[in-house]
Amino acid sequence: MNCALCKANLTNGKVNHIVDLGERIIIVKNVPASVCKQCGEYFVDTDTALKLEAIVEEAKKNKAEVLIVRYNDMVA
Ligand SMILES: [Zn+2]
Repeated sequence: MNCALCKANLTNGKVNHIVDLGERIIIVKNVPASVCKQCGEYFVDTDTALKLEAIVEEAKKNKAEVLIVRYNDMVA
């Protein structure tokens, strides 16, 4: 699989996924992703994307302005 932006090779790694909701920011740490070493872009698979969506929905119930959660804690 190659990067959709710069066509470089992607490597498996972990990223911090940041969701900017405007007034609030949710940071999901250690998300498994395919990472582009050239431009820094990353891509998650469909399964991971669905889990991230669920994590963000859950995190929205928390009123903190900045919320940091670990991916592994949330999908366990
Ligand atoms: Zn790239």
